[in-house]
Amino acid sequence: MLTYSQDNMRAQSEYCGAEIVSQTVGKVDFSSRPFKFWLHPMGDEETLEEETHTADAIIIATGAKARRLDLKGEEKYWGNGVSACAVCDGSLPIFREKPLVVIGGGDSAVEEAIYLTKKASKVTVLVRKDKLRASKANATRLSTNPKVEILYNTSASEILGEDKPRGLMTGLKIKNAKSGEEKELKANGLFYAVGHDPATALFKGQLDMDEDGYLITQPGNAHTNVEGVFAAGDVQDKKYRQAITSAGMYKPCHVPDIKLIFSGTGCIAALEAEKFLVEQESPDGETAIDDTDAKKGKTDTNGDVPEYRQNPLL
Ligand code: NAP
Repeated sequence: MLTYSQDNMRAQSEYCGAEIVSQTVGKVDFSSRPFKFWLHPMGDEETLEEETHTADAIIIATGAKARRLDLKGEEKYWGNGVSACAVCDGSLPIFREKPLVVIGGGDSAVEEAIYLTKKASKVTVLVRKDKLRASKANATRLSTNPKVEILYNTSASEILGEDKPRGLMTGLKIKNAKSGEEKELKANGLFYAVGHDPATALFKGQLDMDEDGYLITQPGNAHTNVEGVFAAGDVQDKKYRQAITSAGMYKPCHVPDIKLIFSGTGCIAALEAEKFLVEQESPDGETAIDDTDAKKGKTDTNGDVPEYRQNPLL
């Protein structure tokens, strides 16, 4: 489902004129326009290519990475029972009708656990404190679900599993911080829901960030503190990321075979970046693009409809 949406979004972007380069950005310089950036050579994150690339406007959508706990056995069973995304991996056959564990006490942990109850025989939620951090409504949803058991004051210390190449996880060592009791829990899946770290190291010292490293954008739009640099998605939103920025609204798209396009903060950033570029081209305040003509369906002197007017998004 996710791949289907990604493929459609990619096709739609390319249809609208985007060139997609699959390479890692290693350095940026936002001190003056055009902005500069440098790429890592393919497969080498240590060095930088010599070529300097430039852009008149930049949209940052580098996202946030799910935190891991570095438990003993984590590396060995990662992808073989251990995951940080129930929605991505929860439907795999290895989890079907099996006992599963979620670690975390926030809203993500609740959503992951509730989602997993549709696949698992039972879901145990390990909460390190004596209460959930999730909203009251979510906490109630979790505690009243008959397939869920919540173990408070409990943390995990080791992931257990088959001792063979590509062996699967089979259990978890857990400890109650209050009683000191340690025991083994049978579990065929472990899902971390212990928060995210935004991928913003590249922009440190150049863009304003909050205390958790998320980029700060102006309320209601995608502007960062540097004019011409915009941010969208999880990299600037730690609160609503799933509900708002991923789903957003949808509207019909005219691209053949694509029924829906999604527009959340990514769409806001794209529109803001386009507006910024148009304003830069016409610094006296006149818009470079005459909207009246566009509405009347007028064409350029060469008879072609300008690119932006053909864009089904606008
Ligand atoms: P979160 O609110 O930061 O919660 C992280 C949870 O992981 C906390 O319960 C924390 O425990 C626990 N944790 C952190 N490190 C741990 C460790 N080393 N060992 C064990 N537990 C650990 O993160 P989130 O749940 O991803 O939510 C992030 C934001 O998105 C929140 O503002 C949330 O409300 C929002 N969100 C909303 C929805 C929704 O409204 N439907 C859905 C998902 C997310 P402590 O409580 O003890 O610190």
